Amino acid sequence: MLDIQSYFQALKASWVKRYLLSVEDEWSLFMRFYINYFGSNNLLLHMNFDRLDTFPSLDNIPKFYQEMILAFNKSKNTTVPENHEQLMQSVIWGNKNIMIKSNQHKKDITLYYESWIQVGLIYVKDLLIIDGKISDNYIFQKLNRKVNFLSEKYKVSIAMRKYRHLLGYNVPNEMIFTLPREPILPGNENILVSQQPSKFYYTELVKKKSVDMNLGFWTTKLLTPIPDIQEIMKKKIVEIKEKKIAEFNYKFVNNIVACGKMLSKWKPFINEKCDLCNEYDTQCHIIFECSIVRNIWHKISNNIGKRVTLNDITFGITLDRETNNLVSQICYTIHKYWIMRINENIIASEKQLTEIIVNDLRFKSSVMSYLKENKIASMYKTASDWIGH
Ligand SMILES: [Zn+2]
Repeated sequence: MLDIQSYFQALKASWVKRYLLSVEDEWSLFMRFYINYFGSNNLLLHMNFDRLDTFPSLDNIPKFYQEMILAFNKSKNTTVPENHEQLMQSVIWGNKNIMIKSNQHKKDITLYYESWIQVGLIYVKDLLIIDGKISDNYIFQKLNRKVNFLSEKYKVSIAMRKYRHLLGYNVPNEMIFTLPREPILPGNENILVSQQPSKFYYTELVKKKSVDMNLGFWTTKLLTPIPDIQEIMKKKIVEIKEKKIAEFNYKFVNNIVACGKMLSKWKPFINEKCDLCNEYDTQCHIIFECSIVRNIWHKISNNIGKRVTLNDITFGITLDRETNNLVSQICYTIHKYWIMRINENIIASEKQLTEIIVNDLRFKSSVMSYLKENKIASMYKTASDWIGH
């Protein structure tokens, strides 16, 4: 027997799919108008509320569109976030997993604050979260309309309270790029890199002949000639298989990787000095100079038959493709461990770091063989044995 209700639901939901595929005809213009009424770039379609009473603002658009959106959201497979990463990727607004009790409506409703959406606070990852708490200061400074700031901020915090254990620590990408200085795309002086999605700046950076990067820092740090920027881009971004590691490299070359020295400016509980060495906790210290990583680089150097230097790590020019990927992966994991230490307030342990690196390399080795990158795969596997012993 045909389930008539499901049939009509599916029919309504399919209108949204038609809309997403449609060109700008008259029909889709109306739909576009109503959908973007709730936030640009089809934000409404990224929400997951599936009842009108949990998203009362939907009542502002015609019934036909309301039903379509509800049917579309019902057809989605949404799950409750189970870890930090999933929570960070969640849209804050119209999210049935992030609800509060509404006195006015006498039931649980999802959140929807236009003034936050207007300034780009869309996902949980857009919030500055320190030690499981959303930063008041950051949101206050961002909002253009601050009238309801206090009560809105309070409600967002209450709605997310059940995820306290997953909130941890999050610095929005935007902030990492803004401090201490922000790279600007050459020829596009008005386009700040932080406002572009990652994909955009890789392609832009790689195709430009000259790139205005902040390499001045390295001139004093390394006391060696700085290689050609195009060459650095080729090694540290194009040659790197995994995009998030290429992104990390990009930040490292620009000296804007999150570190204690940088983050302590916002939050005094983060130490600007390394707990182990009492040196400034800079990106170079974390990745290369700290006593906790010396042994790891020593083992790599011994086995590749060449002493790995900060210069090799930063620019990659002197390394072959496999070693370059390996070194970048290790830097990335070392930094990941540093973030974890800050997040969970754990004491640095060389043994633990070594285990994490070995695990990451083994796992990535299987990913690389799946991608038919057999040389990199075997490099990772071999290196995991060097480091593990
Ligand atoms: Zn240290």
